[in-house]
Amino acid sequence: MSIGKIVILSAVSIGDPRELPLDGSACSASSTTGQRWQTVRRAVRNRPWEASLTMTTIFKKIIDREIPAEIVYEDDQCLAFRDVNPAAPTHVLVIPKQEIPAVSALVDDDAELMAHLWKVIPRIARDLSLEDGYRVVVNCGPQGGQTVDHLHFHLLGGRPMTWPPG
Ligand code: AMP
Repeated sequence: MSIGKIVILSAVSIGDPRELPLDGSACSASSTTGQRWQTVRRAVRNRPWEASLTMTTIFKKIIDREIPAEIVYEDDQCLAFRDVNPAAPTHVLVIPKQEIPAVSALVDDDAELMAHLWKVIPRIARDLSLEDGYRVVVNCGPQGGQTVDHLHFHLLGGRPMTWPPG
């Protein structure tokens, strides 16, 4: 059983997660568990349907090198790898290493991390020779077309993009 699942079960056993403090202090285990708890807590607050998430997504497995990916960039805060089902000649996913389920789950403390991601994205685009332009897309929730519950930025390029998107 993953740590994420354990955290969620703890949440269930200690009451309504929406009534618990955001800082993870209701979670008596390690600081990592506390951080995960924080993520669960804010996900529940911001997007109630995320309360059922197990937290361990395929992207977390890529971060942990449990499954392979074609990585094009990595630093201590983020990872970028080629999308397995590309929607453009160049299609890269840029993800924070921190497990944030969706853009709707961001909190004030994530501002620095988000600024870092937005600095990295143009750098990756340059490295991938997207000098004629590119598109950055973030899907959120079922109607937004999000299928993996780990925040990610699609970096798409290598062909003219149409508008509006489908
Ligand atoms: P979204 O629909 O916005 O949640 O985007 C998820 C993206 O992840 C899709 O474009 C998938 O093709 C991509 N994807 C899913 N699994 C993998 C994987 N193992 N490696 C690379 N990309 C993946």
